[in-house]
Amino acid sequence: MTTPTSEVDLQVAPAPAPGSPPAAVSLTVSGMTCAACSARVQRALEKSPGVEQASVNLMTGAASVVYDPAVTSPHELCAVVERTGYGARLPEEGESVESELAREEAEQASELAVLRVKVGIALAAALAAMVLSLPLMEPASLPGFDPFMQVMMLVARPLRELWPGLFRADPDLLRYVLLALSAPVVVVSGGRFFTRAWWAARHGGADMNSLIAVGTGAALLLSLAATLAPGWFRAHGLAPDVYYEAALWIIAFVLLGNYLEAGARHRTGAAVRRLAGLRPDSATVIRGGQELVVPLVEVLPGDLVLVRPGQRVPVDGRVVEGTSAVDESMLTGEPVPVVRGPGMEVVAGTLNGSGALRVRALRVGRDTVLARILRLVREAQASRPPVQRIADRIAGIFVPVVFSIALLTLGIWWLFGPEGEHLTGVASAVSVLIIACPCAMGLAVPTAVMVATGRGAELGVLVRGGEALERAHAIQTIVLDKTGTGTEGRPAVTRVEALAPGAETEVLRLAASLERRSEHPIAAAIVTAAKERGLVLGEPEEFATEPGRGVRGRLEGHEVLVGNARLLADSGVDLGPLADSAARLEAGGSTVALVAVERRLLGLVAVNDPVRPTARTAIRQLREMGLEVVLLTGDNRRAAERVAREVGLDRVMAEVLPHQKRDAVATLQREGRVVAMVGDGINDAPALAQADIGIAMGTGTDVAMESGQITLVGGDLRGVVAAIRLSRSTHRIIRQNLFWALVYNVVSIPLAAGALYPVIGLRLSPAVAAAAMALSSVSVVSNSLRLRRVSLGRGR
Ligand code: ADP
Ligand code: MG
Repeated sequence: MTTPTSEVDLQVAPAPAPGSPPAAVSLTVSGMTCAACSARVQRALEKSPGVEQASVNLMTGAASVVYDPAVTSPHELCAVVERTGYGARLPEEGESVESELAREEAEQASELAVLRVKVGIALAAALAAMVLSLPLMEPASLPGFDPFMQVMMLVARPLRELWPGLFRADPDLLRYVLLALSAPVVVVSGGRFFTRAWWAARHGGADMNSLIAVGTGAALLLSLAATLAPGWFRAHGLAPDVYYEAALWIIAFVLLGNYLEAGARHRTGAAVRRLAGLRPDSATVIRGGQELVVPLVEVLPGDLVLVRPGQRVPVDGRVVEGTSAVDESMLTGEPVPVVRGPGMEVVAGTLNGSGALRVRALRVGRDTVLARILRLVREAQASRPPVQRIADRIAGIFVPVVFSIALLTLGIWWLFGPEGEHLTGVASAVSVLIIACPCAMGLAVPTAVMVATGRGAELGVLVRGGEALERAHAIQTIVLDKTGTGTEGRPAVTRVEALAPGAETEVLRLAASLERRSEHPIAAAIVTAAKERGLVLGEPEEFATEPGRGVRGRLEGHEVLVGNARLLADSGVDLGPLADSAARLEAGGSTVALVAVERRLLGLVAVNDPVRPTARTAIRQLREMGLEVVLLTGDNRRAAERVAREVGLDRVMAEVLPHQKRDAVATLQREGRVVAMVGDGINDAPALAQADIGIAMGTGTDVAMESGQITLVGGDLRGVVAAIRLSRSTHRIIRQNLFWALVYNVVSIPLAAGALYPVIGLRLSPAVAAAAMALSSVSVVSNSLRLRRVSLGRGR
């Protein structure tokens, strides 16, 4: 644990008054190997005084805690975690996601190395113990059919020829040899099961470690008794059987499972590490006419950065010189490179093509789009979707239930087992404890969320968390905002008309002078057109926007209105003279901005926003997926219908004012549909929030990540298709994982208990149980890893 500033500081600082606002901290917990571990740490935190909310993620080792600073402190929280037997560390001040990832990577690597050694020792010892145990076993003494015993017997036959001396050894002595072999291995390789089980017990809990500790502990204690006092056993008509080899196999297999699982878990984070690796470590800056290669941390906003052909862009910035095709696929998922030239923005992590670029740095380090994406993905990966709670609950009741079943197993074997073999029930009870470990159940959800969010990031689909991922599979209706979503959102002026002959320039000049103050895409188009024509714009004395309708203000002493028919008609302007002209333009897909001075119509400016070329493909795919796609816009009905025809939609909600967009979404929801709203994230925020899933469109350089549960980095509608595919796949994989984990336990427990023994004589020895348990966890993680293959399904 590291101590930021000093302990003294924290103690001297005045304690916040009770009832002060809760604080939040994210601790890094180390040493967790399974879902039971994270569940235990979480429970310990939740129970500790002053903690309002705690969530511990097994995959990332992050514990997010909301606490009352008047009652507890981050240091105290670390201590709480450490008392459960795991390591805890405070976040380092200002640590970047990249260095956090690098540290995690190093920790995981050392954890894997330690596990590898422990597994090696345990496997070797288990094999040796198995061989040494062979002479102690009489085939006839073990009734029924046990796959593991079959293997043992198979080994025994040739061994008897090879090493006859072993089979003539004194059984009492062999038992001591086995004890001497097992004891240190149990301590070295299996020690942590016992220490953790002990911690759990002291806190009144039991978890997977308890199952394994009690299982191996029972086998070892019984063996110890048989080793020390075989005579007592024989005097009471019992065989002095030892189970050292079983205990060692359990430890070996459980550790092997942990090891494989840790490796697979590491792979689930590969996508994020790949993203983090995109940013170069250094940059070439031009200072005082000199080219200098400096470490990236030394690049400041405003610096002029040189990006050579084939290099990765080191900062977010604006191109000042040069033109090049830039590959942005790593962020947007869009495989075709985009041409970037002077005035255009490039973002850190993208790959420059064959031209050299000089870029003025706008955002560096933590502020870049890439860094923000990384942080978002990390948070998402650490989040718990609601289904996790089901898994937690099942895992929670599992342990006590399993202990009861194990005791029952023991009792039944004792009472009804074969004559003289009362104690063989111990082996079955131990098998029950080992095989029932709810490990796979705990891994079912977090591994899938981890892989899916990482894969999404690679496809340019940022999912805010497990909950959004889970919910998006159920979407039935997709509402598309027209401007900037269905269309490119970069409208251009296509026509200017004036009532008075020759007054077109004046119409454009007045409109542009007022629109300068507006941030609407239509306004931008009008201003651009005026500037292209070299018009000198005036400065409005008054200005107000009329959301969803236009703008009004005062220019050179006159009241000026620019906006749609509704705005002008409501202000008493007679639209008659231009009504035909406007209708014609609208039918052609244009948006018409009418211009009036002192409530007298002067002329109009027609603006056209081209439909995104990929929108058509995306909408076709969405409809093929069985989704209803609705166009929602504040624009006039004629223009909206024109766009709808062009992209292939059937339902249009037009002339909807901004504050009504939210109601439009609510209306669809009341019709009983699960609605996703796709918008630009800036003026569609309320509708995005109202929808079951808000999908915000980014532009590659500007990613409004806060406004939706899902953000499409590249602002390409095909990302919606990808998001829904990803969500559907994740949903399916999570169900599969939970189903198989449950089936595994439901089937394996009675088998281990010996339910089939009376029928076909089948018994499962503890070693087989341990192998099966390890296999089930590994198969769940592997199943989740299949999500790495979800593709965008692009096409034309
Ligand atoms: P959308 O739903 O397409 O995003 P808005 O709700 O922003 O559209 O605007 C609806 C309509 O209001 C536009 O189609 C346009 O006719 C008019 N309008 C809004 N802002 C302006 C403006 N600044 N200048 C001219 N017309 C505007
Ligand atoms: Mg809009």
